[in-house]
Amino acid sequence: APRANFWLVMKEPSNNAGPGHDPGVDEAGELVAALSLTEQAALTAGSDMWHTVALPAAGIPALRCSDGPNGVRGLHAGRGPTSAAFPVATALAATWDVDLVAAVGSALAQEAGDKGVQVLLAPTLNLQRHPLGGRNFECFSEDPYLSARLAVAFIGGVQGGGVAATAKHFVANDSEHDRHRVSVEISMRALRELYLVPFEAAVAEAGVWAVMTAYNRLNGTHCAANHWLLSEVLKGEWGFDGVVMSDWFGTYSTLAPALAGLDLEMPGPACFQGEQLAELVVRGDIPASILVDKGRRLVRLAQRVGTIGLGATGREPTGLELTAGAAGSERSVERPETWALARRAAGQAMVVLRNDGLLPLQTLDIGQVAILGPNASPGQIMGGGSSQVRPYRISSPLQALGDRFGPEVVVRYEPGCRTHRLCPRLDPTAFELYAYDSLEPKGDPVWIDHTDEVGGSLGGAERSAVDPQAFAVSYRGTFVAAHSGEHLFGVTAIGRSRVLVEGVLIADNWSNPQPGHTFYANGTAEVQGSVFLPAGQAVAIQVDYQRRGGLFPAVRLGVELPEPEDLFDRAVGAARGADLVILVVGSNEEWEGEGADRVDFSLPGAQNQLIDAVLAANRNTVVVLNTGSPVAMHWADKAAALVQAWYPGMAFGAALVDVLFGDVNPSGRLPSTFPKRLEDHPAYLNYPPEGGRLLYGEGVFVGYRGFDARDTDPLFPFGFGLSYTTFAYGALHAQLDLAGRRVRVELDITNIGDRTGAEVVQLYVGDDESAVARPPKELKGFRRVELTPGQCQRVGFDLDERAFSFWDPDRQEWRLEPGRFALLAGSSSRDIRASTAIIW
Ligand code: BGC
Repeated sequence: APRANFWLVMKEPSNNAGPGHDPGVDEAGELVAALSLTEQAALTAGSDMWHTVALPAAGIPALRCSDGPNGVRGLHAGRGPTSAAFPVATALAATWDVDLVAAVGSALAQEAGDKGVQVLLAPTLNLQRHPLGGRNFECFSEDPYLSARLAVAFIGGVQGGGVAATAKHFVANDSEHDRHRVSVEISMRALRELYLVPFEAAVAEAGVWAVMTAYNRLNGTHCAANHWLLSEVLKGEWGFDGVVMSDWFGTYSTLAPALAGLDLEMPGPACFQGEQLAELVVRGDIPASILVDKGRRLVRLAQRVGTIGLGATGREPTGLELTAGAAGSERSVERPETWALARRAAGQAMVVLRNDGLLPLQTLDIGQVAILGPNASPGQIMGGGSSQVRPYRISSPLQALGDRFGPEVVVRYEPGCRTHRLCPRLDPTAFELYAYDSLEPKGDPVWIDHTDEVGGSLGGAERSAVDPQAFAVSYRGTFVAAHSGEHLFGVTAIGRSRVLVEGVLIADNWSNPQPGHTFYANGTAEVQGSVFLPAGQAVAIQVDYQRRGGLFPAVRLGVELPEPEDLFDRAVGAARGADLVILVVGSNEEWEGEGADRVDFSLPGAQNQLIDAVLAANRNTVVVLNTGSPVAMHWADKAAALVQAWYPGMAFGAALVDVLFGDVNPSGRLPSTFPKRLEDHPAYLNYPPEGGRLLYGEGVFVGYRGFDARDTDPLFPFGFGLSYTTFAYGALHAQLDLAGRRVRVELDITNIGDRTGAEVVQLYVGDDESAVARPPKELKGFRRVELTPGQCQRVGFDLDERAFSFWDPDRQEWRLEPGRFALLAGSSSRDIRASTAIIW
């Protein structure tokens, strides 16, 4: 049939054209127009969790989507082939290095190829509005300009590798609290000047091929059903000609999203779009052209990633490539250059916040070093949720530091305290799984399998049970205690669950399960119960699980082993006896992840007490913060050195060694403000949501904009970070080109220290007098310059009109008010080294 070979005659896809661009009826449109209504409708939803629908007869392939921002996990969400794990987005942002971020994007495209993925579900372009945001680590910054520049670099890297990037979550999913329901109430100025900015750059500058809608409502209307957002702004004003997909299970109805501009419901099979749209067309409720446009966008995406048309291989795609799954096409490839890039990125991301001269470390006088803290081994390399990947290797701080100190130095390691929120997962243990076609795990099982963890094989159970929404399983295995003592068993599930030890009910999450934060906030609270177990004796454990609806089947077992009584004291003792202490504290994916915001501004567990005690025991302490967001630090000025290491990806330990020993001269700068107290933060009074509404009451005064406006001192300001060398700033020169509507700004930067290093020069603009309240200054340019000792370099910035404008809510347009504007160049938002002014 001529239709089957249609792809052969397709031309190269166009990139996004500018605003107002109407792709018109193109080849993709003709292909889709020739499909039956049923086929057209089928294209508007996924086929399964990660694939779009294939129509092989029409030559339309399934596209495979996969998370995400710091690695490509593939189809199995942490259980499949391993992947490279890069630093999380806020760490990448702390490098302020667009070339590096582009290189990470390219590497992710390569990793996507390993996993047969054409659509990468990244970058996350929401803003770090409030320090407790559960996914702050996954976003670049509190600042829209920094986020936009890095978004453009990241997307360029990914799409340059022939893989689609997905700008998500459009828009205002800046908090995880009640994310499916909450209405973010936000002024038009804040939207235009802040929250939309990274997305606008992703579309208009980077030509991103896909956009994912946010779960939340925006001023009352769900983003996936928001016509103004999707059709007027995104597709209209910005000329977006790619695919708008919903966040997973974030399509909530049929008609409104279809009309608003949603092109693809994910995942599949369809709940609301798909064939229901065909019915709407038949009934005359929506015009058929809507389906053609949605399909055309999907086909255009397939063209762009090369699965329609001759593509990269230059040959006709095979049937296998056209159908979903392409089973067996996932592989794990360890490339030395990828490891090197992950290590470089992690090293460049680390921010030295304090240094009284202890860093870089001199090892000559060190005979004994104490490596302490719950995050010293293995260390937390990423945050929680859909961005988690299974890394092929982890360099832990303990291992890497121990290797670096070498055999001459005595290394003592003590975690000092525990920080888990749920009982820790069991190490892989052999379980037999019995699946029952009933709600009670009784009678004859319909299916039996082996697995090495509770929660494993549930997909198989689901498929084998007669009703996949209502079944029960029972896991049975044995457990041998290493030490005698009370063992705390904890169980949580999407559904009912319970733990029995030797047939005795220990933890009952069956009778009265309560909502909790696990499984993206779809799970129950964990129920725990303890039992004394003697060392060395095998006991029978049984975990029962009942699925009755819910988003997906899930159950998790954890066991907290008896805690040594002297856990804390041993760490303090080790600190006392050491010449140097490296104390690695932090958070983990249970406290900081997707589905829920952080519950507390403080470090979890007894870490603050541990830090106090260790700092009192030994002044020579480097505190390393392994977190994705700022935390309370009443001890900050007592540490001889303080390093913000973020969630730095798989090369954590190696990169930490690079920075602490000065092989890498630190150049990381904070991409968000670190407040002294949560109460000082501009978003403090408008958080959490009330009555289903989250009011962005601080308006445009987000992050440092609010600290500056209220003249509040942060603990560490936006843009701050120390180096092992020193930079001098020359005078700032600015020239206004009135005809070209541009401003050229230049200054000289000199490395006046004795080490090669990089400075991140930041350019802020302030409007001296304005008709509306504006932040005292806003970032409008930055440049990372690497200089050898004595080297001087001229740094230039070109600012356009937008850099000086505000969104006029009355006229509904950008407005540059004539007058005087301050231009401020500095090493942080609170360390302005040179300034000048221009008059527009
Ligand atoms: C997240 C998205 C992610 C999707 C698919 C959702 O829970 O919000 O960021 O891409 O799941 O895993």
